[in-house]
Amino acid sequence: MTKRMYSEDPYKQSFEAVVEKIEGNNVWLDQTCFYPESGGQAGDAGTLNGQRVVGAQFDTEKNIVHILESTPTFKIGDQAKGQIDWERRYKIMRVHAASHIMEHFLFQVFGSLKLTGSHLNEKYDKSTYESDERLDPEKIAEVEKRANEFIAQGLTIETWPDEKRPHFKYWKCGPIQMPCGGTHPKNTGEIGPIKLKRETGGRGREKVETSLLKS
Ligand SMILES: [Zn+2]
Repeated sequence: MTKRMYSEDPYKQSFEAVVEKIEGNNVWLDQTCFYPESGGQAGDAGTLNGQRVVGAQFDTEKNIVHILESTPTFKIGDQAKGQIDWERRYKIMRVHAASHIMEHFLFQVFGSLKLTGSHLNEKYDKSTYESDERLDPEKIAEVEKRANEFIAQGLTIETWPDEKRPHFKYWKCGPIQMPCGGTHPKNTGEIGPIKLKRETGGRGREKVETSLLKS
């Protein structure tokens, strides 16, 4: 299995690895810092030996596939130098952690609420949750207030693997805990203040968008 270096150190931006498999523009390495698209978090972009990596995904065996823009100029057994697009990833880490916090206070304020989906925007600074229930604007304002007060405390964010399933990880920040294998900053201070915006979609769909105010 591909060694998941992002799991040990989400701040690691460059690494060296051995090329294990190539199929067309897809490359498998023995280890990687590229986070594969999963759990609602976007996969990383960057470069491998200077060639552009447009995305990373899990294959059916849960190994990580790096998708290159063009045919790799290197071959199996070669050493590869990887570099992730850090500006993009760091923003994703921050907005991702912000959405965990927002979600906690969303349930706290609304009680039970059925969320039907979530996604990140193309600039990776906004995360949107969808619901088929009405999202009262006053309650959304209360969620924003509670989330911002929480974030402003500069709380430590911890992650650790499950004892029996090493690839299954947990995320904890203050009283909030949930299973998540994504990448997160170490402290809520890195997220900075957030803004929540309610939007109404079609067919009774409502959305709440979480955006970072600090670039
Ligand atoms: Zn997470």
